[in-house]
Amino acid sequence: MRLNQTLIPTLRDDPSDAEANSHRFMIRAGLIRQLASGVYSYLPLGYRVLRKLEAIIREEMEKAEAVEVLLPSLHPAELWQQSGRWDLYGDDLMRLKDRHGRPFALGATHEEAITSLVRDEVKTYKRLPLTLFQIQTKFRDERRPRYGLLRGREFLMKDAYSFDADTSGLDRSYSRMYDAYTAIFTRCGLRFRAIEADSGSIGGTDTHEFMAVCDIGEDTIVHCGGCGYAANLELAVSASSAAEPGSALTAPSLAETPGVRTIAQLTRFLNVMPEQIVKSIALLADERPVLVLVRGDREMNETKVKRLLGAADVQLMGELEITGLLRSAPGFIGPVNIPENVMIVADEEVRGLRDIVIGANELDRHWTGVTPERDFRIDRYGDLRSAADGDRCCRCGQPLLFDKGIEVGHVFKLGTRYSEAMRASFLDDSGRSLPYIMGCYGIGVSRLLAAIVEQHHDESGIVWPESIAPYRVHLIVIQPKDPVQLELAERLYRDLQASGVEVLFDDRSERPGAKFADADLIGIPLRITVGKRAADGFVECKRRYEPDSFELEAAKLGEHLQ
Ligand code: ATP
Ligand code: MG
Ligand code: MG
Ligand code: MG
Repeated sequence: MRLNQTLIPTLRDDPSDAEANSHRFMIRAGLIRQLASGVYSYLPLGYRVLRKLEAIIREEMEKAEAVEVLLPSLHPAELWQQSGRWDLYGDDLMRLKDRHGRPFALGATHEEAITSLVRDEVKTYKRLPLTLFQIQTKFRDERRPRYGLLRGREFLMKDAYSFDADTSGLDRSYSRMYDAYTAIFTRCGLRFRAIEADSGSIGGTDTHEFMAVCDIGEDTIVHCGGCGYAANLELAVSASSAAEPGSALTAPSLAETPGVRTIAQLTRFLNVMPEQIVKSIALLADERPVLVLVRGDREMNETKVKRLLGAADVQLMGELEITGLLRSAPGFIGPVNIPENVMIVADEEVRGLRDIVIGANELDRHWTGVTPERDFRIDRYGDLRSAADGDRCCRCGQPLLFDKGIEVGHVFKLGTRYSEAMRASFLDDSGRSLPYIMGCYGIGVSRLLAAIVEQHHDESGIVWPESIAPYRVHLIVIQPKDPVQLELAERLYRDLQASGVEVLFDDRSERPGAKFADADLIGIPLRITVGKRAADGFVECKRRYEPDSFELEAAKLGEHLQ
């Protein structure tokens, strides 16, 4: 493909609203464009990568003997009423009415739709086990769509559903999917961990989340260096509290179980990022007195905080790095005004430092009645990786480690949750009618794309893993007006294509610097430049992930790419 003939609108500057690296690079490299909050168009380059991901997923699904279908996005409300989720799913479900006033939902997930299909078509144990999958757009009216494709309101998901006659069948279907997921994420070049998640039922092994390890991730991965136990935060906390009664940090119990926690621990137990704690002031302070905790250089911070808050009673407080006890003026502060290193604890009644509320900018993420020093102290609160004292593995007692992760996949043993509610059953070999035993297995395909960029980039742009790169070769001709250069470049372009190598050809009359910058931004694994040395039959080659280039005889290129 010639770069000029396709649509790759690269941008020099970062978009102002992009907080995540994947978001900013995918916009800048011309992979995606936003249509509405959490709703994106895939441009040719983005769509190519998405299709490569889909191809890997399809191959692995088929190896696992799952069969592809495509279900509708428009679901009649009755279907969701049958499962009970019409009421349970809440505002995330996009609802609409047809011209006759009949209620519908846009598919947020497809347990109902698939159960209804199988209920009508599969009536005997002889047709089980059956695993069906689809790759399809999902709709969820997320409260906070953000980070580009990482949390969209319209996004692409691969969802699979297994139907078995008994629980040992489900165990087999589940582990086949688990293995397929491991193969998919490995082939995509993702660093990931499969972790035990909380299924809301007894036992922790009937659901796993696949997490891309990544600092921007909204989830916390808890893992043990000793025995390899890995779980999400909710499960690890409930497991450790089961092992050691009273040690769990749940919102109401912080004050009841005094003992110093660090801010890093608090952010983990609240399952929020440190920035969210900082931002909690927006929710809590509003005309109320607040206590402000500031890290780092005291004098500087004190002056800064005083100026920022127009503050009155600034007090220094012993060993803590607390610099200010301040009375807020109405409307004095909003999240945007808070310097990075300021952490704020709001106080209903600051007098005597009683009834302090600490928390994050999230519902149900607050503790009341907190006493500084008794309940928490400030530490290096950005450091989420270190094992904190007291956080020990529920299996072997070794210290736990923490990472941030992006949930890219989720496998779940549903059992008869949907088949019973929707009266979906088959006849077994003795003619008894039994509900199917089901499992569901999701991969956020568009989120996976963003997670890969999140892990594979440098300061100049994306660095695609070979397996999913949009093209294999980025061919540049430095001086298209020079007939020698142009002829060699055109010949290479034809030859490479003829031998099945996907090549993006930049024959624009742009400055060489601009072409190289675009190549770095787009991140195709091999850059081949035809320049002055074309006269001698040489080209320059550079791998995206290596700093140095090397010269190669153009005639040997085919061999080199074998
Ligand atoms: P999250 O915890 O991030 O909200 P979820 O647990 O609600 O995700 P599932 O219902 O398990 O998501 O859906 C299966 C997969 O779909 C998830 O593992 C994730 O990869 C992807 N996914 C879920 N919500 C979104 C979204 N808003 N945007 C992009 N991908 C998503
Ligand atoms: Mg969700
Ligand atoms: Mg989740
Ligand atoms: Mg999930």
